[in-house]
Amino acid sequence: MRVFVASLATETNTFSPLFVDRSAFEEAFYCPPGAHPDTPTLCSAPMVAARRRAKTDGFTLIEGTATWAEPAGLISQGGYESLRDEILGQLKAAMPVDIVLYGLHGAMVARGYDDCEGDLLARTRALVGPDVVIGAELDMHHHLTQQRVDSADVLVAFKEFPHTDFLARAEDLVELCLRTVRGEIEPVTEVFDLRSLSAAFMTSREPGRSFVDRLMQLEGKDGILSISVTHGFTPADVADVGCKVFVVADGERNRGKAKALAEQLGREILGWPPGAAGPYHYKPEEAIQQALAEPGQPIVFADRWDSPGGGVAGDSSVMIDALLAHPEIPSAIGALWDPIAVQFCRAAGVGAAIRLRFCGKVSETSGHPVDADVVVKGLSDNLMIPFEQSWVSLGPAAAISIGNVDIVLATGRSQTFSPPAFTNLGIDLAQKKVVVVKSSNHFYAAFSRIAATIHYLDTGGPFPSDPRMIPYTKLRRPIYPLDPHPWL
Ligand SMILES: [Zn+2]
Repeated sequence: MRVFVASLATETNTFSPLFVDRSAFEEAFYCPPGAHPDTPTLCSAPMVAARRRAKTDGFTLIEGTATWAEPAGLISQGGYESLRDEILGQLKAAMPVDIVLYGLHGAMVARGYDDCEGDLLARTRALVGPDVVIGAELDMHHHLTQQRVDSADVLVAFKEFPHTDFLARAEDLVELCLRTVRGEIEPVTEVFDLRSLSAAFMTSREPGRSFVDRLMQLEGKDGILSISVTHGFTPADVADVGCKVFVVADGERNRGKAKALAEQLGREILGWPPGAAGPYHYKPEEAIQQALAEPGQPIVFADRWDSPGGGVAGDSSVMIDALLAHPEIPSAIGALWDPIAVQFCRAAGVGAAIRLRFCGKVSETSGHPVDADVVVKGLSDNLMIPFEQSWVSLGPAAAISIGNVDIVLATGRSQTFSPPAFTNLGIDLAQKKVVVVKSSNHFYAAFSRIAATIHYLDTGGPFPSDPRMIPYTKLRRPIYPLDPHPWL
């Protein structure tokens, strides 16, 4: 048996001003064939899972390129096409193969390509023909298109948000593809479209936690092979944004069961009371008062809509202003993206007291640049932080202090996945009353181990977070909350 595996992934916020090309992939994570590390990244876990199974099951694994760009704005047409054609060329050279495995994200948009993953999967099918098994892992924040369902045999999405299960779902995918090629199962997929932009949920809280626990109990019996929920990624002007449930069942005889189950689970999500799926979002000053009213420390706040994971800069200074307005409160905020300020801090050196302008540069809803007398508290040549089984680089980084307020500035634009983003630069989070992280929810698992409480912020930009305010032009209608809900 011969198996080909590759990974091409990013998440595109088409409303973001951070336009990118191929170099964004090469700078963030780019592994030519054979160069992928032993540990998985968020979207390249199928490569690691397939390596393990190649050893135990004795098949030949042919690795293609694995690459990821930090979420940003539109990708250039040439950037996408060159990476796509690189992988398809590797696949062609590897043929004949029995299985093609992809680690995708599922929300990649390039100029001229609203559905990059559908395009890649359809071209893959055209190349390998109808009898080769094609499987792909997707982040749950994807756009599920008919072209993808038609082109692949098995699609499996992450179930957990925060995404703590990317390796486990990759193992599910590889297992299902191996069973298919051995003739043990015949996967068929049914999709229920919730026609909603507002049904995404977190699994770090109820009712999402119990819901996903139940999904996993339903898998592997009664002809149901896999159940995924498409949460969608709202800041994208493409036709297929929105929430869906898709069920993979074994054989045509179970197709009806898959269709009924997808609809039943989708309607269950639609039936949750308004607001049940998401947390409360504090305004900046409200957040400070909330922290002061609570016992213990640190009280951790996530600046959700300025998370680089959502394709924006992560340089909003709105919460820096809020913290500086309370110099008596020991606080920390990070990691903010400002490569130029980091360069100045590195040149000045640890302990230097300098006048610095930083952050608030990239978008008009990200506050203003901050001008302050700062002390360079810590420096790193490459700030590496863990995220589940993976390691993430924030590049050269600096910690600066303005009195009680410590601020982490980084050269790499990446989410604040875990406390070492602060502690590796000498910031003791146990001494802080308020800690603000630039992340939507992936920080949760690691920070829940050190936080007294965790809350979420709405600092007014720049994601955009309210679908009713997003100037969609391609979105298929009707869809809730832009239109009355067609299902209820
Ligand atoms: Zn995601």
